[in-house]
Amino acid sequence: MNKYQYPVEVHSHTYHSDGQFSVSELVDAAVDFGYKGLILTDHNSSAGYLEMAEVEAVKSGALVTLHGMEWTTYFGHMLAHDADYDVDWREATVDTIDDYMAEVRAANGLVGIAHPFDIGSPICTGCHWDFRVKDFSLVNYIEIWNSNSPQAKLESVLAYELWLGKLLEGYEISCSAGRDWHRPDGPDANMGVTYVELAAGKALTPATFKEALRSGSYYITLGPRVQFSVGDWHMGDRVGAGKLAEGGAGEGGSATAEAGADGGAAAEVRVAVTPTELRDLKQFPVTHAVVSVWNNNTLLHQSEPVAELGGDGFEVVFALDTAAVKPGFVRFEVRGDFRGVENTLVVVGNPIYVK
Ligand SMILES: [Zn+2]
Ligand SMILES: [Zn+2]
Repeated sequence: MNKYQYPVEVHSHTYHSDGQFSVSELVDAAVDFGYKGLILTDHNSSAGYLEMAEVEAVKSGALVTLHGMEWTTYFGHMLAHDADYDVDWREATVDTIDDYMAEVRAANGLVGIAHPFDIGSPICTGCHWDFRVKDFSLVNYIEIWNSNSPQAKLESVLAYELWLGKLLEGYEISCSAGRDWHRPDGPDANMGVTYVELAAGKALTPATFKEALRSGSYYITLGPRVQFSVGDWHMGDRVGAGKLAEGGAGEGGSATAEAGADGGAAAEVRVAVTPTELRDLKQFPVTHAVVSVWNNNTLLHQSEPVAELGGDGFEVVFALDTAAVKPGFVRFEVRGDFRGVENTLVVVGNPIYVK
C-alpha cells in the first residue's frame, strides 16, 4: 500500500538571523512552494518560532512547524530540531561536540550535521564541519544536499560519501537536504526537497513530522516522487532479515511471501517513480533515470535507463531472495541527467534497516 508523503523543508532562515524573510514572508513562501511542513533554523536563535505560531497558515494547520535552530560555531554548523529547550552551544569545542549532541538528544531533539563540506575559513568561517564526532549514533542526519543546485556541487558528493560510509559502518543515520532558505529564489532555482512518509491516512502533525525525521522515514529529491517498499516494509523501518517477506507494521495486504529459488522467502521490491508535482520544479526534466537498490554495498538491482521521466512515470519491481540479504540496510536511489549534469543523484532514499 502506498504511503502518504508530505514535502517539507527542515533548514530555513529569517531576519531573526541572516535571512531576508520576515517570519510571515517565509511561511507564505513555503505554502506557495507547496511545503506542508517547515522548520525554522535561524543561526543561534529560535526567536522566530513563537512568532511563526501566530501566522495564519500555521494557526490553521496548513503548514506544520517544529522548533529548530542552527548552531553556528567556528567549528561547524549543526541543526538542532525540536529540542525541548535551547541547549547552550557556546562552549562546544572540536573535541567535546559529542557531549553537546547528547544533551540535544536528551532534550528530545534531533541532531543534523549541516553542509559538512562547505568551504570554511577565510571564506565562510565555521561553515566547514571540523568537529570531531566520536559517536555517530548521536547524529540523526547528515545534510548531503545544501542550498540550491545540489546536483552541481562537489560538496554534495563528499557529503553523500560521508553518509554512506557511516551507514556501512553500521550507524542508523539518515541523509537530509537543506534548502538553507534565506531569501526568495529566482525562477531558475532548483533545490532538494524532503518528502516525509507516513502510513496511509495519517496526517502530518508536529508529532508525526518529528517521528518521520527521527526514524528516517523520508527521502530527498530534486523533484521526482518515489514509493519504495520491500514486501510491506518502508524507509525507516527496522526489520529482521527473516521477516522481510512478511507484512510490515499494521499495513496488511501486498507482501508476497513466495518460495525463493533456494526454498527461502522472496520479498517483492517495488520502486515507483513519478514526475514532480511541485510547480517550481516541473521545468527541470529528468532524463536517463536509473533506479538502483542496494543491500549495504551490494547492488541488488539496477534498472534500464528511462529516456524521459514523464506521464505516470515508471515502476521497477523485482523479487528479493531474503535469505541472501545481509544485516545492515536496504536502500534505493535514482540517478539521471539533470540540468546538464549527467548521471547525478536525483532521489536518495533513507534505509530500511535490517537486523
Ligand atoms: Zn549553515
Ligand atoms: Zn543555514
